[in-house]
Amino acid sequence: MIDKEVSIIGAGPSGISAALYLKRAGIPFLLFEKNIPGGKIAFTSYIDNYPGYKNRDGVELALQMQEQLAENEIEITFDSIENITKENERFLLKGNKETYLSKYILLATGTKEKRIGLQGEERFYGKGISYCALCDGALYKNKEVAVLGGGNSALEESLYLSSIVSKVYLIHRREEFRAEEELIKKVKQKENIVLYTSYQIEKLYGTKFLEGIEVVSSLKEEKEFLPISGLFVYIGFEPSFDIVSFPIETEDGYIKTDEDMETSVARFFAIGDVRKKRLRQIVTAVSDGAIAATKIGNLRNEEYKRER
Ligand SMILES: Cc1cc2nc3c(=O)[nH]c(=O)nc-3n(C[C@H](O)[C@H](O)[C@H](O)COP(=O)(O)OP(=O)(O)OC[C@H]3O[C@@H](n4cnc5c(N)ncnc54)[C@H](O)[C@@H]3O)c2cc1C
Repeated sequence: MIDKEVSIIGAGPSGISAALYLKRAGIPFLLFEKNIPGGKIAFTSYIDNYPGYKNRDGVELALQMQEQLAENEIEITFDSIENITKENERFLLKGNKETYLSKYILLATGTKEKRIGLQGEERFYGKGISYCALCDGALYKNKEVAVLGGGNSALEESLYLSSIVSKVYLIHRREEFRAEEELIKKVKQKENIVLYTSYQIEKLYGTKFLEGIEVVSSLKEEKEFLPISGLFVYIGFEPSFDIVSFPIETEDGYIKTDEDMETSVARFFAIGDVRKKRLRQIVTAVSDGAIAATKIGNLRNEEYKRER
């Protein structure tokens, strides 16, 4: 069993920021990642609101964060943590590869994509249905695709796809989008983005691969078949913390924390998108990581003074 004082679960912006602060404070820790370091930004086409970062490419920002970890001699432990339990004064983490023990936990697992809830959705995943335009967009070069959703992500990724595919049907269940004005303007100016507002998807068609969808208008009660080969789903996210096997206080489904990111469970911190907060962005995720790591440093100092 590997014993490290702190475990950071997730190497997205919040986990990476916490790692940098812990390293500078000389606190021993492990940084776990089950997929690609950088988290959601490694799958994002445009970033245009992170101060100091003018490049706008999400993948590039994720790579820069990874480089910064390497420059600071911070290693990533590539293991998927499947379960966290309490063992006396410590936390036991069961990973796919190893078992770990830690005094402090920084849960930085972010969110996972909401599913549409239609029959065949799981079957067509990777065979027409995708939750990442940046990863899969190129597979649909010069073809017709649909994007489902009405927030910033759906509009940003529609714009990205519009430069690759022949046509994007942007389907949103309401008449108005929930996105920034600037984005809405850009989407409306694109000739190959066709807006289907007040529409919902009713049925998925295809044998092995997705071949089309049936959409229905809530205003006209009309049904229409759209012959698409790709459907990109951006209808929101839900927090990802089902690995926590003990009661923890939540609010609106997200983990509740205090100002220092500590949860209702002592020495268990939640940072980034997984916690209850008003704004889920890179700038708030990195801030959470820095605050929680600093608090852990303070707690350790207090313990050290008490023990002396
Ligand atoms: C399409 C899209 C566009 C966006 N555009 C912007 C933007 O332009 N500007 C902006 O500021 N924000 C943007 N965001 C939001 C931003 O990406 C998030 O707020 C930010 O990534 C949250 O960081 P995080 O560290 O909390 O979580 P995440 O980035 O979700 O990272 C969580 C990490 O934890 C890992 N993980 C999860 N579970 C486990 C486990 N059990 N074991 C090990 N590892 C695990 C995941 O693999 C992942 O790498 C966008 C998001 C999306 C989806």
